[in-house]
Amino acid sequence: MRTLIRAISLLGILFLVACSSENGNVSKDNVNSDHVAEKIVFAMDTVMTLRAYGPNAEKALADAENEIQTLDQRLRRGSANSEIYAVNTAGSAEVSEDTAELISTALDISESTGGAFDISIAPVMDLWGFYTGEFYVPSEAELSASLAAVDYRNVNVNGKTVSTTNGARIDLGGIAKGYLSSQIIDIMKKNGVSSCIVSLGGNIQTLGTKPDGSSWKVGVQDPDDENGYIGVLSISDMAAVTSGGYQRFFEQDGTVYHHIIDPSGGLPAQSGLKSVTIVSADGTLADGLSTALYVMGLDKGIEYWRSHDGFDAVFVTDDNEILITKGLADMFEGRIEALIIE
Ligand code: AMP
Ligand code: MG
Repeated sequence: MRTLIRAISLLGILFLVACSSENGNVSKDNVNSDHVAEKIVFAMDTVMTLRAYGPNAEKALADAENEIQTLDQRLRRGSANSEIYAVNTAGSAEVSEDTAELISTALDISESTGGAFDISIAPVMDLWGFYTGEFYVPSEAELSASLAAVDYRNVNVNGKTVSTTNGARIDLGGIAKGYLSSQIIDIMKKNGVSSCIVSLGGNIQTLGTKPDGSSWKVGVQDPDDENGYIGVLSISDMAAVTSGGYQRFFEQDGTVYHHIIDPSGGLPAQSGLKSVTIVSADGTLADGLSTALYVMGLDKGIEYWRSHDGFDAVFVTDDNEILITKGLADMFEGRIEALIIE
């Protein structure tokens, strides 16, 4: 049921994207000459919508769908024939080059965010029941027991061999979709597609501009209203990835528990933010950082942005303020005025 509700709410986002890409001043000639193809795929518990333009669009989308199924199979940790399952159960396994590269990138993000992003979070996710949907509020003792193995430094990549120490287990849920969207964009380029938008739940990535030369319009969801938007980003050749506690949660005894965990205590992050959206040319980085900065909160998130290149951010605070980093000043139009972070 929850998945269905999520799927419907995600479709809302897709509609915005799909409708907005039909808006603008598309001339009749453009419409006739720009062949468009679309595909909807369900994978990684997510409704994925891909839209590509140009003569090779169908072939590119077919290749992209293959890649989605391949990565879903490799990375789904609950599936007995996935690479992550092999690492998590055996403590060491040879994985595909792509998976090794993704885990390396994830570990770099963990290192640079001081462990706010941590792919060894699997035992804690399991304890809360987020993986199975059988939700449970753990005791402090249970939490500290499950945290014992949570430390990204317990995960090592050596060539194509991924190994873990201290019984650590990997969960790539915070970065897999960003990696997948990047891979899809690469597949589009290889197929000669130069205009494309993919929407994988809260992860959107674009290639080029819309066929009429204008930028893609991507709504940033209102954390308090699944059909509402706090603003619109105008992007091209960029990913926009949102993390927010509203995306997956359960309620018990009047308290809401969501799925983004602060690895320092094993509890859902309460950092004063309702959502973080990262805009970057690198979809993998955008996904990892959206999760990390949500955990870090506004002040540490701003500090991180000031000391690292390659991305911009939209923060929505618990007080419903919107703050954007200055690279987005001309790319974000908020429903209320956004404060610009310099
Ligand atoms: P996202 O929606 O990209 O923020 O990712 C949330 C998902 O990432 C969760 O459902 C977990 O699978 C995983 N996760 C939760 N907390 C963390 C964390 N602190 N670091 C890395 N992954 C996390
Ligand atoms: Mg993420």
